[in-house]
Amino acid sequence: MNGYGGNILRVNLTTGQITKSPTPPELIRDYVGGRGFNVYWLHKEVPKGADPLGPDNKLFISNGPLSGLLVAGGGKCDFTTKSPLTGGYASSSIGGHFSAEMKYAGLDTITLEGMGAKPVYLFIDDNRVELRDASAYWGMGCIEAEKALKEKYGDEFQIAVIGPGGENGVLYASVNHDFGRQAGRGGVGAVMGVKKLKAIVLRGTQSVAVANLGAYREAGMALYQACKDSEGLKPWQSYGTTIVVSWCDEVGALPTRNFSAGSFEGGKTLYGPVMREQIVVTDKGCFGCPSPCGKYSHTKRYNSYVEGPEYETIGMLGSNVGLSDIQDVAQANLLCDELGVDTISTGGVIGWAMECYEKGLLTAADTGGLELKFGNPAAVFELIRQIARREGLGALLAQGVKRAAKQVGRGSEKFAIQVKGMEQSAYATHNATAMLISYMTCDVGAHHNRAWAITYDLQVGRDLVVPEKVQRVIWLQNFRPMFDVFGACRLQWVELGIDRDLYLPLLEAITGVKRTWQDLELVGERIWNLSRLYWIREIEGFGREWDMPPARFYEEPPKTGVTAGQITKFEDVQKLLDMYYEQRGWDANGQPAAATLQRLSLAQ
Ligand code: SF4
Repeated sequence: MNGYGGNILRVNLTTGQITKSPTPPELIRDYVGGRGFNVYWLHKEVPKGADPLGPDNKLFISNGPLSGLLVAGGGKCDFTTKSPLTGGYASSSIGGHFSAEMKYAGLDTITLEGMGAKPVYLFIDDNRVELRDASAYWGMGCIEAEKALKEKYGDEFQIAVIGPGGENGVLYASVNHDFGRQAGRGGVGAVMGVKKLKAIVLRGTQSVAVANLGAYREAGMALYQACKDSEGLKPWQSYGTTIVVSWCDEVGALPTRNFSAGSFEGGKTLYGPVMREQIVVTDKGCFGCPSPCGKYSHTKRYNSYVEGPEYETIGMLGSNVGLSDIQDVAQANLLCDELGVDTISTGGVIGWAMECYEKGLLTAADTGGLELKFGNPAAVFELIRQIARREGLGALLAQGVKRAAKQVGRGSEKFAIQVKGMEQSAYATHNATAMLISYMTCDVGAHHNRAWAITYDLQVGRDLVVPEKVQRVIWLQNFRPMFDVFGACRLQWVELGIDRDLYLPLLEAITGVKRTWQDLELVGERIWNLSRLYWIREIEGFGREWDMPPARFYEEPPKTGVTAGQITKFEDVQKLLDMYYEQRGWDANGQPAAATLQRLSLAQ
């Protein structure tokens, strides 16, 4: 088990039973780790038709073979469950130190099943594993509870925690860690909340065996050296993901006022250098990271401290809701972190609600007198609080934009910016066909991190509808998630331009198994198809219609900004899907063909 913790921990919240079993070697062979393990467990263990917020659903947390070792960015783990937001596959990764600590406690996966009656937290101190009473922490915000648990147990313990959003069943509630990192997407926090599990408190002190210590040291140092030598290091460390705010604004990819445009006239105040000068106090990184992109900030206006905001939050809780002052965005970020709700989905539903209000589809009677206009920070703050409590208009918005739009109706579905029920993350896809098909086909809903193809659109021509674009997206979808499988950060490859081949000798030195990118991309493709099969199994009639983008992107060209007047035609959207299905080896309704499943060893 070189490179692995070696154990799967299973905790039943209904019975209190806690068991451990060895990690199956064939699972490592076929799925490697992290997100690969989790999609396998989800498919195998959660019964068809399980209520996402019922006792049959499970939450799987897995790290990977590179987690917790001297690997640049080896601190990621994946949270997977049946999504209460979409009814399909949810997978969300988190950085920080939790993943490494799991490895030191000898764990590859934590499986949480059943549903408790009273609030508890899971306490893990190496081989000592217990459920403990959490009534003193229930109701606390994520940051408050993490601080309290650290004070009780000490800084060595790593903590994953939910806030009121998860406790109250907000369908896009997050699991938070390290005072501001979120596993935000798909409602993993709501699943933890309904199980009455407030937190996981974790410490491990065990060593991790590696196959070849000398080669590990050499390959690990080569990766660190490449990061150190990268020209991208300095700007990346200075600004983190906020480095792309100005670029997105300039190319028309910055979501603005509920994605009605891709450029924000107030955007310049949100740019990375302005933020650095105005609010950033220090840099903050995950375990083993040589290029810390986290920014720890202080707002004078609110006298508050927050990790962030990073790009997605600036896009969704800044320009997308019309906020142009970085201090307001940072404060909205802090509220989401404390209350435990996904900043992306929260910005998406609030942007939609503001558009409804400005169009008269929601009135002061619906908002309780809140002036829900774009650019009103007080309204944003109040709505975040209402969402987390599921009170007032927040009760509607806590269900996510797809359900909320269905309830409000009157055309509001057309500007509900979601795919498969998940609010789109912060890239406006007007006339950017690769990024558009990436969002349409993403395995969790409209999320960017599987195939960040917007730069490719700009590189080859944003309006091209050609097989090469689809091919690029599929390659990214098969390859990029391998970082979630390894339990490592992808940003060194994306942002510092690190050669992906540097990871192969490292993986071999750690695990003792030689793998090629061809072999690993096949694993990525297997994972992709297994998640597709999960959607098909769980949602009656699942198919092409579920891959369609919001109507806004093919019916309503932006009126302002650099993409003004530009749109992807409906027939081109259909062409993109046809090309995608064909290249994936799926039929015209998006169902994997028997030969494809055979090739991927997924045939039943
Ligand atoms: Fe974490 Fe950022 Fe470093 Fe990645 S680049 S490991 S997200 S701090």
